[in-house]
Amino acid sequence: MLPSLRRYHPHVSLITISIQVNDPAEVASAIEQARAAASEGAQLVEWRVDELAVEAAGHKACHALVRDTPMPCILTCRMVEEGGHFGGDESDRVGLVDSLVKAGIAPKYIDVESVAWRRDRDLRMGVGKLLAESECGLVLSTHDFEGRPDDLARQLDVMWAEDDAAVVKVAWMARSIRDSLEGMELLAEAAGPMIVVCMGRFGVMSRVLAGKFGGLLTFASLGEAQTTAPGQLTVDQLRNQYRFDSVSPSTSVFGIMGDPVEHSMSPLLHNTGFDLANFDGVMVPMPVIEGWESFKASLACLLDQPALNFSGLAVTSPHKENLSRFVEEVGGTLTPMVRRCGSANTLVVLPDGSLVADNTDTEGVVGPLRQVMTLKGSKVAMLGAGGAARAAAIGLLLEGAEVVVFNRSEERALALVDDVKARMESPVSIEYQSGGPQSSDGFKAVINMTTLGMDGGPDPSASPLEALGGSAEVLTEQMIVFDAVYSPLETPFVRQASRSGATVITGDAMFLAQAARQFKTWTGATAPMDTWMALLGS
Ligand code: NAP
Repeated sequence: MLPSLRRYHPHVSLITISIQVNDPAEVASAIEQARAAASEGAQLVEWRVDELAVEAAGHKACHALVRDTPMPCILTCRMVEEGGHFGGDESDRVGLVDSLVKAGIAPKYIDVESVAWRRDRDLRMGVGKLLAESECGLVLSTHDFEGRPDDLARQLDVMWAEDDAAVVKVAWMARSIRDSLEGMELLAEAAGPMIVVCMGRFGVMSRVLAGKFGGLLTFASLGEAQTTAPGQLTVDQLRNQYRFDSVSPSTSVFGIMGDPVEHSMSPLLHNTGFDLANFDGVMVPMPVIEGWESFKASLACLLDQPALNFSGLAVTSPHKENLSRFVEEVGGTLTPMVRRCGSANTLVVLPDGSLVADNTDTEGVVGPLRQVMTLKGSKVAMLGAGGAARAAAIGLLLEGAEVVVFNRSEERALALVDDVKARMESPVSIEYQSGGPQSSDGFKAVINMTTLGMDGGPDPSASPLEALGGSAEVLTEQMIVFDAVYSPLETPFVRQASRSGATVITGDAMFLAQAARQFKTWTGATAPMDTWMALLGS
């Protein structure tokens, strides 16, 4: 007997694996794949039979897929103009449906594109017969692989008005996280069972949060190589990295906001921590492109959705300064460290809706350094002048270190030096030097606060020393070398430092220290450092 749908809780949407079968010879292995997905936690399978629908052998293969399916299934045959691969005409598609009726075989659902449904009377008749003679339900769908359809509201009205539709599905390529938020709003207001898929990197949150808003299902793949749509997660990622089974209407939503955020370890760490602390929360990626306007619009939209239970953000490049500006402009609270740094990496949304911005980066840099050196009176070469560098400089100066700033953009470095000086109550030692460091020059530590060496950053294969015009020769055995980049841990800069014999602090130390403070602020619980270190491979 097939497993019953919604077997956990009514709010849990079904993890649905989409498997494309191109040839009758692939049926057995496709069924095996579905079995493997079921054992990982998938509850529904979509058989994509675009290539099978034409001839009798193909029809037979479709029958076998539906008959032997290890989970309830959706049968989908999408034409080329609908974003699929089916090259036949509508009569071929009707032929497939007729053959199912004749064989007395019916899937749980059959997916038909809304435009085709309205256009073709024979298709409506054929599918209508299948619906009448079995328990099959019609998923009426619309897809846009370019962006949000301009006439989305009209398309939805048409689909909801269709009596035969058991489920309404809408999928589009999200252009920002605001599209995902709109998708979730559509689910929350749905007149019946609904599927919303926002594709692409801006749509990942809509996939994770489908259950929170009552979406019937979310699509996933068995492995990263088998994804059938951009932004699709694997079953394993959904369940183990994003707590999919635990997400419910009451779940508090946190985001990691920046660009890029696809490689961030924050969701894995915080979601694992939420699990261990029995905290009803989930962190999802929220990529937001550079610029104040896009940041402001995205955050305003998040705050404007009461059903989201939006509770906080970890903010990364390039939006840390935007976060402190936003919170100040709306009359929220900036912690003293944010006032000092002029940037924030943590947002807390209090139960009454008021906002607090904090900066935990300072402690992330100073904490690990303090453990291996005396900062007071030590001269530190700092590579970079962005948001993290500013926090690092302030932390170091507050500890009594002397800071020399090296950065690609002289203007930005000089602005950082002036700004930091202006923010400190007493005189401090910070200066800018052009180019990169040429000699050890009394430096006790060299710290990288640029994005160089970072996966998904401007140049993962570059060391900031050479990129700024300096030399690896400056690194010595006596030095402490600190890299803020944590993905990967072994950056070109870290490799240079290891070769020089210096004491190396990799980006995980900073990441763990700042994340632990965020976790405490959001949950009140202590972060599970041992588990986190194991997850980061520290
Ligand atoms: P940001 O504000 O965007 O600053 C980027 C910095 O990198 C700037 O100094 C920029 O120089 C420099 N840079 C970028 N591309 C460059 C290139 N091609 N050549 C030379 N310099 C280049 O970023 P951020 O927020 O400060 O973050 C900096 C790094 O710290 C990131 O890798 C981030 O992941 C890491 N970080 C780690 C943690 C942690 O917990 N481990 C926490 C926070 C940040 P210009 O001024 O010339 O553009």
